[in-house]
Amino acid sequence: MSKRNHSSRMHRLRTEFFEEGKRLDADPDTQHLADCHLCHTRIDYDAEPGTTPDSHTLDHYFPVEDYPELQDDPDNFRHAHFNCNSSRGKGDVNENGLGEPMAAWW
Ligand SMILES: [Zn+2]
Repeated sequence: MSKRNHSSRMHRLRTEFFEEGKRLDADPDTQHLADCHLCHTRIDYDAEPGTTPDSHTLDHYFPVEDYPELQDDPDNFRHAHFNCNSSRGKGDVNENGLGEPMAAWW
């Protein structure tokens, strides 16, 4: 059985987290808070999440694989590039995942 939570609640949390990042990115005072936590450069918030290498993804600071109880805890959420999150990986990440927005880690 998968530890991943595909509930509508998780979907809502991801959407809210993206919107929060987008708001932070729009304000020069808070822009740094919306940067990728892995490479510390800006994320493309104009792109749909998970659609381009520079687009936004929700990364779990503590991997869901090891901390399933934290997967829907916003304190565990970090803004990250799709690419950085993919290369950080945790288990199998599809190298050709760009065409599949619902990749295994999503
Ligand atoms: Zn990055």
